[in-house]
Amino acid sequence: MPKTVLITGASRGIGAACAELFAENGYNVIINYANSSEKAEALAEKTGGTAVKCDVSDPEASEKMVSDIIERFGKIDVLVNNAGISVTGVFDLVSDEDEKRLFDVNVFGTLNCTKKVLPYMLKRKYGKIINISSMWGQTGASCEVHYSAAKAAVIGFTKALAREVGPSGINVNCVAPGMVMTDMTSCYTADEIAEITEEIPLGRCGDPRDIAEAVFFLASEKASFITGQVIGVNGGMVI
Ligand code: NAP
Repeated sequence: MPKTVLITGASRGIGAACAELFAENGYNVIINYANSSEKAEALAEKTGGTAVKCDVSDPEASEKMVSDIIERFGKIDVLVNNAGISVTGVFDLVSDEDEKRLFDVNVFGTLNCTKKVLPYMLKRKYGKIINISSMWGQTGASCEVHYSAAKAAVIGFTKALAREVGPSGINVNCVAPGMVMTDMTSCYTADEIAEITEEIPLGRCGDPRDIAEAVFFLASEKASFITGQVIGVNGGMVI
């Protein structure tokens, strides 16, 4: 029986790269998305997976998504909490509404999905949870204060939960990507990207696949003695 992975925010970018890599390695892939139905369905077709629409910031919708998956596939072996949005701007000028939405998706989305999946993992005494943070959650970024704070919360969540559920056979880890070329970073001009690239020791921005490889490793048995860790995949931008 293949392992089942639920990847939130898998219609595009890093989540989609994760879906492709897990599928290439024989996983049954559940592709969660919020709006991009066509992209998610096309990826499901390509990977032999299943596209599931659900706003992860909504606890009831998340509960339904997870119980539907369990009903259909019997288990979730791996949860990748990847769905995220960014908000840029000077701290005090970011609207209350944008601020709330940022935390709702990045932090509460991660908590919601984990809370719903965890009881099934606890029952089996098996599970791998990989949360996607950001290097800005490690260092803090000017004009991305809310985003940095939300991603730091994801790191704190990872560490605490790893301690709590380690004795139950569940690994919880975090990947903190650097600058990765996706829709999220498409707002940068070519000049800005060149400037950022100069700060990256390995001399390039990341590809979504770079992040997927780290996520896949953490989900594998090769990483069975790793928990509560934050793996930076950033070309050396944060050392
Ligand atoms: P992206 O290309 O903008 O894709 C975001 C994905 O999240 C999409 O699949 C989107 O679904 C989904 N999503 C957004 N809100 C959602 C919600 N409420 N419920 C369910 N799905 C939702 O972003 P990305 O660059 O791949 O980023 C993926 C993760 O990596 C995020 O957590 C991000 O913060 C983190 N990250 C990215 C970078 C980077 O440089 N790109 C760096 C560090 C960390 P729809 O298509 O349906 O909208």
